[in-house]
Amino acid sequence: MKYADVILPLSLANSYTYRIPQDMQAALVAGCRVIVHFGKRRYYTAIVLEVHNRQPQSTLEVKEIYALLDASPVLRRPQLRFWQWLSEYYLCKLGDVYKAALPSGLKLESETAVSCIKDFEAQFPLRPAEQAVLDAFSDGQKLTVSELEKKTGLRNVVSTLSVLLTYGAVEVQEELKKGFAPKLETYVSLSEEYREHDALQKAFDQLKRAHKQELLLVAYLDLSHILNPTLATEVTKKELLQQSECSVSVLDGLVKRGILKYYDKEVGRLQVHISRLQPPQPLSPDQEKAYADIHESFKIKDVCLLHGITSSGKTEIYIRLISEVLSLNRQVLYLLPEIAITTQITNRLAKVFGDKLLVYHSKYSDNERVEVWNKLRAEKKPLLILGVRSSLFLPFYDLGLVIVDEEHEPGYKQQDPAPRYHARNAAIMLANMHGAKTLLGSATPSLDSYFNALTGKYGLVSLNLRYGNTLMPQIIPVNVKELKRKKIMKDALFSPILIDKITEALNNDEQVILFQNRRGFAPVIECKSCGWVPHCVNCDVSLTFHKFRNQLVCHYCGYTYQLPPVCPECRESDLKMMGVGTEKVEEEIASLFPAAKIGRLDFDTARTRTAYERIIDDFDGGKISILIGTQMVSKGLDFGNVSVVGIINADSLLNYPDFRAHERAYQLMVQVSGRAGRRDKSGTVILQTTQPEHPLIQMVQRFAYQEMAKMQLTERSMFRYPPYYRLIVVVLRSRNEAVLQEQSLLFAAKLREKLGDRVLGPVSPPVTRVQSLHIKKIVLKIEISANISPVRKLLEAVQHEMQMNSAYKQLLVHFDVDPA
Ligand code: ADP
Ligand code: ZN
Ligand code: ZN
Repeated sequence: MKYADVILPLSLANSYTYRIPQDMQAALVAGCRVIVHFGKRRYYTAIVLEVHNRQPQSTLEVKEIYALLDASPVLRRPQLRFWQWLSEYYLCKLGDVYKAALPSGLKLESETAVSCIKDFEAQFPLRPAEQAVLDAFSDGQKLTVSELEKKTGLRNVVSTLSVLLTYGAVEVQEELKKGFAPKLETYVSLSEEYREHDALQKAFDQLKRAHKQELLLVAYLDLSHILNPTLATEVTKKELLQQSECSVSVLDGLVKRGILKYYDKEVGRLQVHISRLQPPQPLSPDQEKAYADIHESFKIKDVCLLHGITSSGKTEIYIRLISEVLSLNRQVLYLLPEIAITTQITNRLAKVFGDKLLVYHSKYSDNERVEVWNKLRAEKKPLLILGVRSSLFLPFYDLGLVIVDEEHEPGYKQQDPAPRYHARNAAIMLANMHGAKTLLGSATPSLDSYFNALTGKYGLVSLNLRYGNTLMPQIIPVNVKELKRKKIMKDALFSPILIDKITEALNNDEQVILFQNRRGFAPVIECKSCGWVPHCVNCDVSLTFHKFRNQLVCHYCGYTYQLPPVCPECRESDLKMMGVGTEKVEEEIASLFPAAKIGRLDFDTARTRTAYERIIDDFDGGKISILIGTQMVSKGLDFGNVSVVGIINADSLLNYPDFRAHERAYQLMVQVSGRAGRRDKSGTVILQTTQPEHPLIQMVQRFAYQEMAKMQLTERSMFRYPPYYRLIVVVLRSRNEAVLQEQSLLFAAKLREKLGDRVLGPVSPPVTRVQSLHIKKIVLKIEISANISPVRKLLEAVQHEMQMNSAYKQLLVHFDVDPA
């Protein structure tokens, strides 16, 4: 008898055993998808982990595999190994990894909703079952897989659906992908009636007195080669304006005359089609040296940290390394934190790599994700994949290099749900499995990576000059406390010097970025007469006032409330706004600079990828001159015209209760400062704080990364924190506070029996209740040199033991390894 252990998208056990029917035995191998029944009348797409002939121990009846979906595995062998490593290291189930790894279209289950594509036309006759499924849909209808099964009476509807998915006849419905809209780009072309030589001559005659329009037309002819059919290419409005250095109004003029015309085209999202590929830029001598050093380091080490200050030209070095690996017919994965994936970097890479570049992004529709999967499965081609952390799960054939850009970003750590993996660390493991090298890049490396470089585990290459020797911005700390005491600032948000610098920048047609790390208008509201503060009913936090929506919002659960006209406690109408959010900064700036065009970039204005990119594009194109935002404005964006950066309040960064607070504060302030004075200008950063003498502020001012690292590492080693100790947090949550209290004490006591004072807590986190669940945490601090697997076994054993306890069933418990 043959059995298959399969992975189900459930977090109960790692795998489940099924019998393999005789007729499937030849074709069914590890990595294939199968359909299995589980529980009452539910079925899932499962992945075969292993085929064997060991009789299962269980007394329960072993069910048979229902259907085999693939003729060849969807998962390559290194992927399965990677999944296993993730679930072991991050203490979760293979099913959790499976859920995160595959797009919905590849893991249909009974509840998956499907719809059919309206104008689908089959290129060949469909089989009866396929036609029956399509016929089951009435116009625009969504059906779940089990509904379809009932309607069609077909036995194996998932197999049929899988085929129809590959034909593009049906698609999986996802609620989450709202806000996804095709991106359009405007192109310019020469009107048909001017394409003849004589006609074109007439056009030029018209332009005798419009010199600029004439220049623009010449630039267009140059770029498009429209008169030479073999070379002719399409020209975007953007590149034409850039090349010609003309303004939009000149171009509009030519369009009004009917000589040129605009047309819109959807830009491919997975692949960007570029008509003229450009070779990589020649590197400067400093870049050349860094590049050679990375090569040297890769000869003896698998991981190299490139510590290059902002604007030192790290991206150009990546591009050189990527071309090299591609030319060896291997693949490259280029990881970026979620928010940093913009058209900016995509275009830069597409210009060099053309359709060798594939982009993988969480805001893509499921269909597009399936498309990337299928492309990678089908082709063993050298490709560059630009993606966010979930792209680690793609079916790579042969990775030669993994780049983790902005490697210090906390966004690389997945918070919820499991697997709670750190994409940087997981990337290094993935690279190892492929025999690939990993390059970590940052202007402000994480202390974890920097420590690994100092101790020789990673190579270290530094790049200390900006490209083109642009100066680093000058950072001016401003003592807000002093200004308030002298009544120079009173209730104002901006110091006089910041206002002066903004004024000056605007007068010079330069741009300004203002950074304030809180969104909304006022983080706290308080009744002046009785001290009442509105709190969320679900969470133990005060509510933030959002003036634009005129609502109170909970930043933990998203719940919204109306702002009461009077205090509900004492009926006075004396509600006071306390603290400063980005909306307030925006309002004050608008009243100080009424003529300036202002934009705001935070979680509220940039909910969708489209909205985010619009703001970035508007700032890049000069439609916004003052950009206000949260840490979103600090992310690896390259703007040419920013001369002033204002950090409105550095104190909140310094005082945050977390052992990484100072490391983060340094990174944020240096990163946001790095937006100032790129390309040909040096910039100014006004850093407002009540603690100008704080050592960290002074280190930011001098860009003294190494000093900061040294100070922080000393503290970390003293207080037993990473990178000297590994943290594993047991997170326990329950609606019942008393049970939570009792069970978490018990859990901690059991761990303490074996681990002694490596166990801390249970403690309550700063926010003790979120979404009606009370929270306790038990923190394990394990020596970094210690073997971690006995600790994992212990955790699992203790959890198992606790589960015997009926009260424990009222708890939700998960582990967070290497929390960020
Ligand atoms: P980083 O990634 O280190 O912040 P970038 O790679 O974005 O820096 O480079 C900063 C700016 O300098 C960009 O506008 C880039 O186009 C330019 N640049 C960097 N290296 C070169 C080079 N070798 N040739 C031409 N321009 C370069
Ligand atoms: Zn009151
Ligand atoms: Zn809440």
